[in-house]
Amino acid sequence: MDVPVQQVIRPTTVAEALAVLAGRPDSRPIAGGTDLMVQLRDGRKRVSCVVDLGGLGLAGIRQIDGGVEIGASTRMDSIAADDGVRRHFPALAAAAGTVGAWPIQCRATLGGNLANASPAADTAPALLVAEALLTVVSAAGTRRLSVVDFFLGPGRSALAPGELLVSVFLPLVQIPPDCRLVERFVKTGPRLEQVISVVSLAGRAAVRTDGALESVRLALGSVAPTPVRAQRAETVVTGRRPDPVARREAVQALQHDIAPIDDVRAPARYRRIAAAVLLDRFLQEAARV
Ligand SMILES: Cc1cc2nc3c(=O)[nH]c(=O)nc-3n(C[C@H](O)[C@H](O)[C@H](O)COP(=O)(O)OP(=O)(O)OC[C@H]3O[C@@H](n4cnc5c(N)ncnc54)[C@H](O)[C@@H]3O)c2cc1C
Repeated sequence: MDVPVQQVIRPTTVAEALAVLAGRPDSRPIAGGTDLMVQLRDGRKRVSCVVDLGGLGLAGIRQIDGGVEIGASTRMDSIAADDGVRRHFPALAAAAGTVGAWPIQCRATLGGNLANASPAADTAPALLVAEALLTVVSAAGTRRLSVVDFFLGPGRSALAPGELLVSVFLPLVQIPPDCRLVERFVKTGPRLEQVISVVSLAGRAAVRTDGALESVRLALGSVAPTPVRAQRAETVVTGRRPDPVARREAVQALQHDIAPIDDVRAPARYRRIAAAVLLDRFLQEAARV
């Protein structure tokens, strides 16, 4: 593969990595390389030095007070298989298990998926419904930000040059005792595997014994310049049973939450219809739980 990289630096501490990134504007972090190597090969990015994050100890999943913390360099296969993630954040486990196909999942990291800031990043809708908090470090110190504030546009995130994403915190869901939680991730595309989402949706709702939905969280990918929460649709269905009338109103509201474009993967009109279908299916499933 012909890439313009002249140097690979393998730091063993975060401080060392930050020092290299701060001192070399021509450098860029690399984790699994499944986005960056393709972009370098295609000339969409040009850097002469890559800083390999593999030796920094940023991979791993642990239960901590009030939630689950996932290191930025944790690979998709580990996330998809982790018992705690599967139990508490099934949409994220499902999303990680649909990134590319298994060989890609064995290299692709959560941090890379976020930092690449694609509107189609599959873990993003799941992290939006989980209301994840991201920890970012730089030579200037550590800051925490909500995933809602992370995505700024296609390929643009709140990460400043020289900053590293180190971990993602997922707060445990508090649901009333008489509710059951339903959480799903689904995506559409021309194939089951090795396909960037044409539309993706993550949904979470607490279903009361009378069938009404509480704490509804909906988020979509590939339907706007960034992954988005569908707050208008959430408001429409919250406190109601997802009967055909509520579902129809939610689908109508959803059309104001999203702003898809025509591109090589699908026309905007198809994306609007697909988003409506995914939402309707999620709500129908919630009605059956
Ligand atoms: C065949 C194929 C299929 C794919 N299918 C999918 C798919 O179905 N769904 C999907 O969402 N994506 C898909 N992708 C894209 C890619 O695999 C994912 O986005 C992956 O999670 C990127 O992670 P990575 O570790 O490989 O990132 P890298 O390529 O190493 O890095 C990506 C970007 O993030 C930056 N970066 C990485 N880690 C950090 C960090 N900790 N802090 C700051 N910046 C960082 C890098 O500098 C770079 O700009 C696919 C890619 C390929 C090649």
